[in-house]
Amino acid sequence: MQRPAWQERWEEIKPAPLRPVREVLPGLYQVRTRGSSAYLLLDDEITLIDTGNQGSAPRILGALEELGRRPDEIRHIVITHFHIDHVGGLPEIQQHVSARTCVHLAEAPHVESAEPLPNPFMHPLLARICEPYLLRNDPGAARVDVVLHDGDELPALGGMRIVHAPGHTAGSISIHFPNRGALLVGDAMQYKFGRLMLPSRLFTQDMDEAAASIRKLARLDFETLCFSHFRPILSGADRKVREFALSLGE
Ligand SMILES: [Zn+2]
Repeated sequence: MQRPAWQERWEEIKPAPLRPVREVLPGLYQVRTRGSSAYLLLDDEITLIDTGNQGSAPRILGALEELGRRPDEIRHIVITHFHIDHVGGLPEIQQHVSARTCVHLAEAPHVESAEPLPNPFMHPLLARICEPYLLRNDPGAARVDVVLHDGDELPALGGMRIVHAPGHTAGSISIHFPNRGALLVGDAMQYKFGRLMLPSRLFTQDMDEAAASIRKLARLDFETLCFSHFRPILSGADRKVREFALSLGE
């Protein structure tokens, strides 16, 4: 029997050693990618959230194999925002799997464009210094199949709801799993030294809008909070976010 093309290609690139994968909740896994995290939602079908920097496909697909599942079971890829450490691996993942890629309306043009991604650095000098690195690692154009809006729902883990949470970028989204008591915020917040913080000023387009989005997220109910660059908060997370949102003022 002839093997499918994705499997042939996957056999060529799959990594030898096991890669770090964290089970956050049953069916919800945080996978370390190059430069960030991706999340795998394992259900009857599989959803992938974010794709790391370029070169992350072997880690993500390797993690899936460790978990006993196959790349062709991925049905949706959801992107939290257009930054290179979240979409860099998207074109290479799209070569291996036929999943539908879902991106917020405000980010889709950046993801689809063959032009380099917008420089994420707010400070002009840093932006200039980092430009060569960004251009070297730019993923190029990727396909967007579904344009997301606030309130859209997808079937994973008993239902996931898209929450538009702009500020870090104009089309940043968080993902709420009301039936699982979990919220995934991408880069909308930081969690350092046991404290919630605003997203990094270095790469955040609008800090006031980012704070407003945190107040919006604080109205949701969830026990577990997942980030792209930090360990998850496993319990009592909504109370922590409400306290944090209050500390930000009006
Ligand atoms: Zn970011």
